[in-house]
Parts: sequence; structure tokens; C-alpha cells
Amino acid sequence: MYYKQYGNTDMKVSAIGMGCMRYDEEDVKAGRLDKCAEVALYAADQGINYFDTAPFYCDDKSETITGLALSQLKRDQFYVSSKANLGTTGDVIDEDAFRRRLETTLTRLKVDYLDVYHLWCMLSLESYEKQRDALYGFFEKVRGEGLVRNIAVSSHMPGNELEQVIAEDKFRGMLIGYNALNYRFRQKGIETAWDKGMGVVAMNPLGGGVIPSHPELFTYLADKSGMTVPQAALRFVASHREITVALAGITKPEHVDDAVKSVENLKELPAAELLPLYDNIGTSLNDLCTGCGYCEGCPVDIPIPKFMDAYNQKLFGDSITSRLKNHWGIPQMQAADCIACGECESKCTQHLPIIARLAEIASL
Ligand code: SF4
Ligand code: SF4
Repeated sequence: MYYKQYGNTDMKVSAIGMGCMRYDEEDVKAGRLDKCAEVALYAADQGINYFDTAPFYCDDKSETITGLALSQLKRDQFYVSSKANLGTTGDVIDEDAFRRRLETTLTRLKVDYLDVYHLWCMLSLESYEKQRDALYGFFEKVRGEGLVRNIAVSSHMPGNELEQVIAEDKFRGMLIGYNALNYRFRQKGIETAWDKGMGVVAMNPLGGGVIPSHPELFTYLADKSGMTVPQAALRFVASHREITVALAGITKPEHVDDAVKSVENLKELPAAELLPLYDNIGTSLNDLCTGCGYCEGCPVDIPIPKFMDAYNQKLFGDSITSRLKNHWGIPQMQAADCIACGECESKCTQHLPIIARLAEIASL
């Protein structure tokens, strides 16, 4: 296993982390939690020492399963993170509700403290500011009491918005979606985080399953490495100097083996050197929005990169509607606000027909 320093902390974490949201569904439903825990223990045996969980994952059993596994290890053999936001405190700004949530998490994980506690799932600057104002003070308090060692933020914001969050100097780390599909969205964010000495954990390194389900589009990631496309996609993420941990969603021991292989003899490079190696070789991806953000500044405030990212899903045969609703949390009908001024199309680096795509989305 390859290990990296988590920002300006004393944590030396595995370049592959276990994303604890993919325990086997049938085993979870049938209550075979010990069997699920065996997979996490296997991951630990193979050198993975970073475990990322949260309330609600796996029918709200992920923290419990992860705790069953981690309680069989010494506390200095692993790092564990979980998450909280207003959704986990019953939508109330209340210190007792926050503490109850944290205590439940600690009890389920069978630990006295969390290594990382995330302010969870910030979809936009607006939602971030609301949750920060409501909860950040509670996070600081429990850190002062030793219940949480590091406060981090988990976000789906594009890179330029992440920069603003990072500039506030409130977090030791961040958790973001990062993969071969959306790296342009987040590049600025990871570079700024690196400059600030933050740890960066990348979730969704396989593009929500898009990459493994369309391997023919991503063979260029594997090149002559002898790796499978999913392994190469994980390695792509882990190769960034700015990314500390690539979280692999793991259901079976084979997924652990795959993930571990992906970082064999890993060589890290700064994003500024790594990404040009990939920018122009994915020729089959010409119709895709790369998330570069050059089109921003719409006079009627349409978040164009988010809509175009959702349109990418259509090109992969997936659902635009579900992407907008579940990933970005924006109303589909906002696409109808477009006044066809053409400003964005003149700036689009991919020369995409943005106006027509928005009209199509609005008509769905
Ligand atoms: S064409 Fe539509 S989406 Fe593009 S900038 Fe103008 S109003 Fe915004
Ligand atoms: S400029 Fe084009 S490719 Fe870049 S984010 Fe906007 S729509 Fe996507």
C-alpha cells in the first residue's frame, strides 16, 4: 500500500480508503452485519487504514458494521471519519441534537473519538453558508473536547466555489467527488487545498459507476499499464499529489484487491503536470462537458456547468433528471430561464450547443 500525509496533520493515511457505503445490500437487509464487517477487516489486512462512513449509508447500518470491524483492531491502526449536517440533527440548530448525533456515531463505531468529522454534503455556497453558520461552532466545541480530531467539509461544489470555502481557513480537509469525468470542475479546489496544507479525500473516483459501465470510452486511462479501466481510473485519481485518499466503494474482497493493485508503485504528480497528459487524448469524449467552468457568468444565473454535467449522463445513457435532483439538488426547470443570449456558447471550450441542451432539459 502507498501512504500519504493527510495535509498538516499527523495522519499517515493509505492512498486508497474504504468508502463504507457499499456493504453488500442483501447481507445488510438480512442482518448479516458480521459478514459485511469481514470485508472491512480484509481491507485493513491489505493495508487500507482510512475508513469513511456516515449516518444513513447502507440502511443506516454502515457505521455499525464499520464499528464491528474496527473494534477488532488497535485504535492506532486506523483512521475513521463520519459526517453531520442539519439533515442529521432533525433540521434543528440545537447543540443537544448535534451531540446526540455524534454520540450515536461514536457508539456505533465503538471509538472514543473520530479522526475526521465532516460538515456534510454542501451542494452550493448558499447551503454551505447556512450549515456553517448553524453547526460549525458545535464542531469546534467537540473538537476542543477531544471527541473529534479534525474538522473537514464534504462538498459537491465546483472548484471556484471550493476556493472560497477553503479561503475561510476553517477545515483541515475536504471530501469531494473527483474522477476522470469531472476533474476540471474541481481542479482549482484541490490545488488551493494543497496550497493551504489540507488533506483531500476523493469520493466517487469511478464517476458513479459511469466509467466501469462504459470502459470503451476510457481505455486511454489504462494505456499500456496492464490495468483494467476501473483500476486505471482509481490510479488516475490517486496519482494527484493534491489528493490524499481515493475512496474505493467496496462490497467484496475482490474490490479490495483491485483497489490495492491500482496504487502499486504509484507515482504522484502535481495536477498541473498530470492533467495535460490526459486532456487531449480522450477524443471520444468530445461531446462531454469537461466542467472547466469557462462558461460561468450567465446573466440569468443558470449554473451551466452543473446542467451540462447532467447532460453528460444522457450521453452515457443515464438519467439527466436524477443527476440534477440527487447530485446537484437544482430544479430541472431552471433550464427554461435561458434567454439564449449566447454568451456561454461563445466561451465554451468544448463548443457545446448549451442553449439547445438547456431547452432539451427543460422539455423533459
Ligand atoms: S445562453 Fe442561456 S445559459 Fe447561456 S449565458 Fe445566455 S442565458 Fe445563460
Ligand atoms: S465551458 Fe463548456 S465544457 Fe466548460 S463547463 Fe462550460 S459547458 Fe462545460
